[in-house]
Amino acid sequence: RLEIRNIRRRFQGREVVSDVSLKVMPGQVTCLLGPSGCGKSTTLRIIAGVDMQDAGEIYVDGQLVCDTVYRVPPESRSIGLMFQDFALFPHLSVSENVGFGLKGHKSDKKPRIEELLDKVGLLPAYDKYPHELSGGEQQRIALARALAPRPSIMLMDEPFSGLDERLKDDIRDSTLDVLKAENTAVLLVTHEPHEAMRMADEIALMRDGRIVQQGAPYNIYNAPTDRKAAAFFSDIN
Ligand code: ATP
Ligand code: MG
Repeated sequence: RLEIRNIRRRFQGREVVSDVSLKVMPGQVTCLLGPSGCGKSTTLRIIAGVDMQDAGEIYVDGQLVCDTVYRVPPESRSIGLMFQDFALFPHLSVSENVGFGLKGHKSDKKPRIEELLDKVGLLPAYDKYPHELSGGEQQRIALARALAPRPSIMLMDEPFSGLDERLKDDIRDSTLDVLKAENTAVLLVTHEPHEAMRMADEIALMRDGRIVQQGAPYNIYNAPTDRKAAAFFSDIN
């Protein structure tokens, strides 16, 4: 599970993340939803450990991984990442891509690689190369690769943004099935209310670096905290 407490981050004297606190339980999807520039990606980068907060603490499964003096390196945080254009390694096969973050010998990795390829419905692509796959298929391989080492937490930053509009909802649904089957705690960043409504167990609505409202999608949709939140949801597709 993920817990972040009172995270702050400034750039050039301007605070872009202001006192953000969140909890995500295993098997739960929390969407960090808000307009462009509100601080979503910065928050995710801090949790991933590729940026550093000015204040606040991050806990993974109850263990402190980062405060302002102590810092566990990104690769030791049990966090899986999927970012906007999270490219596969073009020179590696599908199975090598999925097994990339796994330790041990080839034969030890194989069952886990096969399990995940089966879960994302791409077992037949085992020996293929990324350029032989469609965008949606590559996205599913990236999901399998991120989940292979059994991370406690998945951080996803607009992971569907590059995909064909007509395929998005199918891929959102199948991604959600795989995440639930793996029982991962998921923090998903999006600026699309529709995506948050479709995928989230809980929505954290972010504006100007702050979480202005948090709760079940249905509750936020029906009882937005103010006019700005209502307006943000009104253009839902
Ligand atoms: P989007 O939906 O467009 O991806 P976002 O919510 O992810 O937006 P962030 O990328 O977190 O927004 O950026 C928040 C603010 O912080 C922006 O105003 C951005 O310009 C600023 N910012 C982000 N990274 C840096 C940096 N390294 N140096 C200076 N300013 C930064
Ligand atoms: Mg962003």
